[in-house]
Amino acid sequence: MTTDVRQLVATSSRVLAAAGHGDLIWGHASARDPEGRGVWIKSATWGLDEITPDRVHLVDPDGKLLSGDGIVHSECAIHTEIMAARPDVGGVVHTHPPHAVALAATGQPLRPVNHAANYFVPPAVPAFTRTADLILTRELGRSLALTLGQARAVFLVNHGIVAVGETLQTATVAAILLEQACQQQLLTHGAGGWASWSDQEESLAKRAHIYHDQAITAVWDYLVRQLPDAGATS
Ligand SMILES: [Zn+2]
Repeated sequence: MTTDVRQLVATSSRVLAAAGHGDLIWGHASARDPEGRGVWIKSATWGLDEITPDRVHLVDPDGKLLSGDGIVHSECAIHTEIMAARPDVGGVVHTHPPHAVALAATGQPLRPVNHAANYFVPPAVPAFTRTADLILTRELGRSLALTLGQARAVFLVNHGIVAVGETLQTATVAAILLEQACQQQLLTHGAGGWASWSDQEESLAKRAHIYHDQAITAVWDYLVRQLPDAGATS
């Protein structure tokens, strides 16, 4: 596992793209700066699949570029304000994955109809509904962080998702699991009939059995191995 933060953000971005989270040039992943100056985040104008370490820069909580080149994502307050509100969070992912956007737009809660949803539920995945527009100010970033609370992820209804983790590796796996869970729920509803899902006790047991820290680390390592030039990024 890489220890270089620029390489980590680049690898996370490419893992997300490979998992279907790419949306042209939109979506971003960040890692907390170990020295407390802000976040290391991908540069705007590039697709997630195009991110290399030199397209990752350091941005302060006011959105000011401190190190690196390129244009800063206008929504960087998502990252800086969540990290300010959640000292336990070291990585933040914001993407527009189609199944998660579709499910959240229906207003239905995420139900653990498969394994993946148990990583999040319970509690219910919160939904940010104040605006579906971009999170362009620190105040909106704080509002989103408030809706996220202590959860692992939040739906930005009619917009996208945010997933967080102790590390960016964990946040990346969480984003991928959330999209998988939403896809499964849409598939389940599309099949008609009466859906079933795990109750809270079973969900918590499955979380402990399936999504323990060692497994999340192994999933990250697996995802990195699947990248086309895995030898250069691991
Ligand atoms: Zn967005």
